[in-house]
Amino acid sequence: MPNERVPRRAFLLSTVGAATVVPMAAAFAGCGKSLDCTDTSALSGEEITARNAIVYVNVAADPARRCENCALYVRAPAANECGGCTLAKGPISPAGSCAKWAQTAPKS
Ligand code: SF4
Repeated sequence: MPNERVPRRAFLLSTVGAATVVPMAAAFAGCGKSLDCTDTSALSGEEITARNAIVYVNVAADPARRCENCALYVRAPAANECGGCTLAKGPISPAGSCAKWAQTAPKS
């Protein structure tokens, strides 16, 4: 019915509720998004070749072998930023991995 009157209280509750729920839904939607640390445009050809040689992937297939658990991972200043790696140049995701994952630091 187009001319049906909506009580003021019901109207306010529905609009305030929608204004609260929409931003919260957007925030939660971002939680499942993986950090993209695949931009190698700043690297030299040699650095890209070295990175490809270790078969870096942005998301680890095995959660136990994630970069953030690797002895060679260099943590980013903030949780939502790419870190680094002492073995490969360029951005490295904490959720990433590679063929050279190391549980302990190599002996020098
Ligand atoms: S060695 Fe591999 S697993 Fe370890 S931090 Fe570097 S890219 Fe990630």
